[in-house]
Amino acid sequence: MSATTGTKLLDNRWDDAKAAAMSEPERLLYRSNLLGGDKRITNYGGGNTSAKVEERDPLTGESVTVLWVKGSGGDVGTMKLDGFSTLYQDKLEALRGIYRGLEHEDEMVALLSHCTFNLNPRAASIDTPLHAYVPYRHVDHMHPDAVIAIAATKRSRELTREIYGDEIGWLPWRRPGFELGLDLSKFAAENPSAKGVVLESHGLFTWGDTARDSYETTLRIINKAIEWFDGQLAGRPAFGGERVSALEPAQRRAIAARLMPEIRARIGTDERKIGHFDDSAAVLGFVNSAELDRLAALGTSCPDHFLRTKIRPLVLAFDPASGDVDGLLAGLDGEIETYRDGYRAYYDRCRRANSPAMRDPNAVIYLVPGVGMLSFAKDKATARIASEFYLNAINVMRGASGVDVYQGLDEQEAFDIEYWLLEEAKLQRMPKPKSLAGRIAFVTGGAGGIGRATAGRLLQDGACVVLADIDQGALDGAVAEFTKGFGADQVRGVVVNVTDEGAVERGFAETVAEFGGLDILVSNAGIASASPIEETTLEVWNRNIDILATGYFLVSREAFRLFRRQKLGGAVVFIASKNGLAASAGAAAYCTAKAAEIHLARCLALEGAEAGIRVNTVNPDAVLRGSKIWSGEWREQRAASSKLQTDQLEEHYRNRSMLKRSVFPEDIAEAVYFLASDLSAKSTGNIINVDAGNPISFTR
Ligand code: NAD
Repeated sequence: MSATTGTKLLDNRWDDAKAAAMSEPERLLYRSNLLGGDKRITNYGGGNTSAKVEERDPLTGESVTVLWVKGSGGDVGTMKLDGFSTLYQDKLEALRGIYRGLEHEDEMVALLSHCTFNLNPRAASIDTPLHAYVPYRHVDHMHPDAVIAIAATKRSRELTREIYGDEIGWLPWRRPGFELGLDLSKFAAENPSAKGVVLESHGLFTWGDTARDSYETTLRIINKAIEWFDGQLAGRPAFGGERVSALEPAQRRAIAARLMPEIRARIGTDERKIGHFDDSAAVLGFVNSAELDRLAALGTSCPDHFLRTKIRPLVLAFDPASGDVDGLLAGLDGEIETYRDGYRAYYDRCRRANSPAMRDPNAVIYLVPGVGMLSFAKDKATARIASEFYLNAINVMRGASGVDVYQGLDEQEAFDIEYWLLEEAKLQRMPKPKSLAGRIAFVTGGAGGIGRATAGRLLQDGACVVLADIDQGALDGAVAEFTKGFGADQVRGVVVNVTDEGAVERGFAETVAEFGGLDILVSNAGIASASPIEETTLEVWNRNIDILATGYFLVSREAFRLFRRQKLGGAVVFIASKNGLAASAGAAAYCTAKAAEIHLARCLALEGAEAGIRVNTVNPDAVLRGSKIWSGEWREQRAASSKLQTDQLEEHYRNRSMLKRSVFPEDIAEAVYFLASDLSAKSTGNIINVDAGNPISFTR
């Protein structure tokens, strides 16, 4: 095990038999995916790989050398062949002739597209010259924690030499771009026996004559660093030892759940944020340590790290031994404002005449002694990845501060990268966020017909969704399906019986610990029953009232509590029923409970308005497809009461409707989406019937 990374040495996963059957670009992809598949080798989206490949020129039919290099954006671990840009090597060489010097290096980026081979639409990355001008066929640029730990020490040059001798060189910090490409080119030419270079405060370059060569060199060089740190750090406590002890896991999670909506309230007014909580051993080792304040203030080193995490985190003052969470919350306003002031001051100190306007001054990473790390970003994946990057930074600081003096990146250099015009252009090119991006929804009965369709609709527009249901099996199925369709970040499932006060509280606490807060409640969990009043048992009556009326009350109360703490408003949508407005013979318990829901929604609309909380109702009718209600007794009872066979019901209801159309779960979901989104920002206390038209349920 390594003291730096807490992991074993890297295994060689190269399979010659597999690689032999591949074309050169396919081998490049194979190598890239192998490298990026291990986060100890490079962080998500970090680093790039290249190969110089002989290809037939579509214009002349002649053989030309083409640089295949990871294009702008993307991640080497998960990329496909289309993630590489392809450029004529001779045209890239020609660019050296028109380069006007460091002051003008940014203009070279636009020229890269003139070197495109074979009309490849993948935009070339600013790192392209770093690969093009290294005189080797295969080049890997990685961000391994163990090597960045060397690169981020004050004596990184000496340590690189001590560990690698002549095999690996060292270049001083320089922002990636054309000039760094020329530096690398010069180094490689002057040091023909070198296998690569450590870039100060940045990462590692390695090269080889074949794809396998390059891959194996990269692994060997990283393993050497891991082993070296093992020797140096063995038996020594990291970060100056523990200053405070970690709380128990359940306490940590409970404090995170208290804290996250409060932070979200203070940083989410311009753009809603999604939170992520990490209390892994590596994080706790840092936040509980004697060195926390000093190291956190120094900021991160690798540009990749701070672009995702901001230059430094916000360390919240908390003494886990006292457990004074109220004190922590009371200090939050001041701490967040101090951080913002600090960020504004950094912007003012470092800004250039043409710098883009200041971006969001709030912290991304929040460190809480005894508890863990919280991160907030515009969506869950970005928040999770930010915390993974800060974990990389912790690993780097552990190594660097253990063997020498750790140094963050110079402030002006950091600023010049953060507010680089090319970075700004990249941000401007990002697609507009979806309408529910940054929103968190809790859908009860989420594993049923209407609940599942609703969850899918909200996910489709970018919301994070928690499916809450009493049926564990159906819930697992629904979560698995949505994870497949939308990725693992956006969806969670919690088993909740909506009639159980404690279970409801726990379900919301889980939601908050997973995503940081709540914006939308869809109260939908339900059952149906039918029987004449004389035959309606007290048990049946209570069951309807419990699930439909009390259940809707319990989840609404919990959502309201959260909305009020969060101060960002909220949207509640009740799935009631036509039967809540229109009396129906032989189903008094169900109809009465549904009427209670509708009236509860109106009362809550009144109560919530001053806090921006909107409460609206959707009334479905006869949604047979996908509904578990309609697959049981209810179907038989309804068929019997209309003197029909069960398979005649769908047609019966279609013909009964004014529009002569069947109503599907997706139709209900569309109305929920409208009421949950800002499209209906000015509607509250309303009812939308989605029943293909039925005069007895007209609202008045
Ligand atoms: P469904 O049975 O397919 O889904 C209901 C879900 O609620 C199920 O997954 C079930 O496990 C869950 N549930 C039941 N009791 C629960 C509890 N105590 N705690 C947590 N979860 C619980 O039915 P559906 O048709 O999707 O109905 C959804 C809602 O729509 C219900 O409130 C229902 O009354 C209402 N509704 C449906 C129709 C229709 O025709 N399908 C018409 C009007 C109203």
